Amino acid sequence: MSDLRLIVNLVLNDELRSATEPYLTSNVTSTMVQTAQERLERYAPLLAYLFPELEKTQGIIESPLMPIKAFSDYGQAGGYWLKGDHALAVAGSVKARGGIHEVLEFVDRLSDEYCLMPNNSVIDLLSERSLEVLGKYTVTVGSTGNLGMSVGIISAALGMQAVVHMSTEAKEWKKKRLRDRGATVIEHDGDYTLAVEQGREEALSEAFSHFVDDEQSISLFCGYAVAGSRLKAQIDEFGIRVDAEHPLFVYIPCGVGGAPGGIAYGLKQEFGDHVHVFFVEPEDSSCFAVQMQHLDRPNTSIYDVGQSNHTEADGLAVPVASQLAIKEMRPRLSGVVVIGEDNLMRDLYLLKEQNDIQIEPSAAAALSGPRAIFNTAEGAAYLKKHGLAEYMCRANHIVWATGGSFMPEDEFRRFWRRGKALAKR
Ligand SMILES: *Cc1c(COP(=O)(O)O)cnc(C)c1O
Repeated sequence: MSDLRLIVNLVLNDELRSATEPYLTSNVTSTMVQTAQERLERYAPLLAYLFPELEKTQGIIESPLMPIKAFSDYGQAGGYWLKGDHALAVAGSVKARGGIHEVLEFVDRLSDEYCLMPNNSVIDLLSERSLEVLGKYTVTVGSTGNLGMSVGIISAALGMQAVVHMSTEAKEWKKKRLRDRGATVIEHDGDYTLAVEQGREEALSEAFSHFVDDEQSISLFCGYAVAGSRLKAQIDEFGIRVDAEHPLFVYIPCGVGGAPGGIAYGLKQEFGDHVHVFFVEPEDSSCFAVQMQHLDRPNTSIYDVGQSNHTEADGLAVPVASQLAIKEMRPRLSGVVVIGEDNLMRDLYLLKEQNDIQIEPSAAAALSGPRAIFNTAEGAAYLKKHGLAEYMCRANHIVWATGGSFMPEDEFRRFWRRGKALAKR
């Protein structure tokens, strides 16, 4: 344990407010999230038909909550859990709920316009006429990888064209997987913000197209937020108590902030002040932490503060945060944990060894969450300020494993070996 230094910094959100006060600034309403949830349910029979792996859940794409062994630098009391979005069917990442929801909302619009569901059934979308109409449309998205897979796979399955604009950080295997499934992948030399920009421009200039805007889309955000009530049901099933004396801590890896923002929104709706949500970012791509510290300057980039955007956590390699996510998180987010690159590799390795769970580097960021609560002055200050210290022995912690099950074995082994070397120090 000599020269391994795990870097963990915690930036607390001074604007966090009690859920008992109305959140006045919201663009998103609980009705919108409810509508998203109903849409995913309404389309479930079609999804079960299109993706045989969804048969056993009747077309609902949801991941398990599972207990894990705590790492040695977590608090030694309390319950530790992993939310396994790495195992989400169809998309293999947290992007499934949001990306699929937005594509289905677009299809609903086309269905109204062309009357594609004469029998009021989503199965009508398999008719020849529907496929002919949908086949004229293109869904475009900018992605570091996983959003592209989610949007690309569902769009192609419904007979639409998919175009995915990818940044330099995108991994080769993700591009290949998308191309194998019929999507068009456009590679950009620049960073994520640029890839999104070019995708947006191109899509807007075309008539039969829809652009999934990772930085601004409310549809995407609402799809992510559906995770809140679904997790609540799993928490009830396990008999996990969440109240003033049993606080719940949730740690979610953050890129632009849309996926973790939507999840945080949903969780705050379910648990109010009893849930404490923290995002986790790599130190050279911590756009959300940077923006939260410069709220008077929208669209502040990580380059402005000297960060490089170099990280193996491709899903988190984003230079500018989503303003939609920032706005929704100002009253709701507890803080942002900023971590070193070594944390990712070592924790990916340890999770595999101690719990036999295989995730990608981006997802491994979440595992630094509890460490930040128990090993930083800011963590202690947070517990003190909210009167939580005496209840920590009864707290539950959920690390959100956002992706990884589609990762090729040799790719995983490469990271695993790096983590192993670090863990041996
Ligand atoms: C996209 C992604 C995130 C973060 O989601 P944002 O909406 O970009 O904040 C986290 N983990 C993985 C694996 C992802 O693909």
